[in-house]
Amino acid sequence: MVILGSTGSIGLNTLEICRRFQLPIEGLVAGNNLELLQEQIDEFQPELVAIADPARIGEIRHRRVYAGAEGILQLLEESASSRVVNALVGYAGLAPTLKTLNLGRNLALANKESLVVAGAFLERTKIFPIDSEHFGLWYLLNDRPFRRLVITASGGAFRDRDPESIRRAAYAEALRHPNWSMGDKITIDSASMVNKLFELLEARWLFDTSDVDAVIERRSVVHALVEFTDGSTTAHLAGVDMKLPIAYALECPITEPILEPVDLLGIGPIAFEEIDTRRYPLWQLKAELLARPRLGVVLNAANEAAMAGFRKGRYDFGTMADKILDAWRRFRGREPESLGEVMEMDKEVRRYVLTNEE
Ligand code: NDP
Repeated sequence: MVILGSTGSIGLNTLEICRRFQLPIEGLVAGNNLELLQEQIDEFQPELVAIADPARIGEIRHRRVYAGAEGILQLLEESASSRVVNALVGYAGLAPTLKTLNLGRNLALANKESLVVAGAFLERTKIFPIDSEHFGLWYLLNDRPFRRLVITASGGAFRDRDPESIRRAAYAEALRHPNWSMGDKITIDSASMVNKLFELLEARWLFDTSDVDAVIERRSVVHALVEFTDGSTTAHLAGVDMKLPIAYALECPITEPILEPVDLLGIGPIAFEEIDTRRYPLWQLKAELLARPRLGVVLNAANEAAMAGFRKGRYDFGTMADKILDAWRRFRGREPESLGEVMEMDKEVRRYVLTNEE
């Protein structure tokens, strides 16, 4: 297989599964952490490598190193693997997703932004999602008729802080996730609840339904629930560890435990809470987003552009959310009709958020 984003949080977990099941690796792609990438190259001996910055190719000891966004696409074309793991972060993951699907390969997809912005235009039969909630839903469904899908949220870094002081929070504070250790972007997206909006959209495209909602479950033990047509509700419980969804997305022959089972007597009471728009103002976009899911491109572009300013300390957490809502109001009248329009709208929304910053 080829792994895009091998030095990240999902990438490292994927490599652990590869070690365990002795899966051969043809290509590794990373951004700036070249020291770690070199260790991975030495261990897994891939045929092909790509990095973000062409100026740093000389730092990698390997015969075939590609670079830049084009370099990733080139690597995919040169590769022969039947499976690609896309664990890149953000909109940069879309072009490799499109290339992988165009080449007819199976796509183990952690890069949720691909589905969020372009779900309407992707061939979904070859997509194997790497996300604990969607894995949980798939695990529960078994082709039975359902009424509603429900995923859970931890509540992120600010779930216990009073809503007024959340507005003034800085980047480092939003990075303190209570349950999961993940990359920076998804951790901020968890604090703002954008991550859960993204996951509703993922579910919309993966399971072809708008009957999907989310609730807070603080322990992150229950990942998903399905309300079936017959009135039964089932829940998926598993540890806080991405290796389980990854092993399934890679279609590993699973005959032994991937994780320890949940300690039923040790976890304590499990409760479900509503997601409150006073604490998570962006959650007010949920109904419209599900009714018009092609607007995912607006949410994603505004979020990435506003998060960049927040990360640089130009403004606080509340202002980041205001900017996303402002861009949403500005662009919600138009839904993209093609991939070309998705890419055009992505640029326009980013430009709008950045212009309004000066
Ligand atoms: P990380 O930030 O930990 O990792 C991102 C990876 O992408 C790193 O390997 C990074 O390289 C690489 N990368 C970034 N920019 C470039 C570039 N321009 N060229 C090549 N490589 C690049 O993110 P996560 O692993 O947390 O998340 C990845 C995706 O998976 C996201 O879409 C996220 O929403 C999703 N996801 C993550 C979960 C988690 O538990 N972490 C759970 C479910 C979904 P480097 O570090 O070397 O710069």
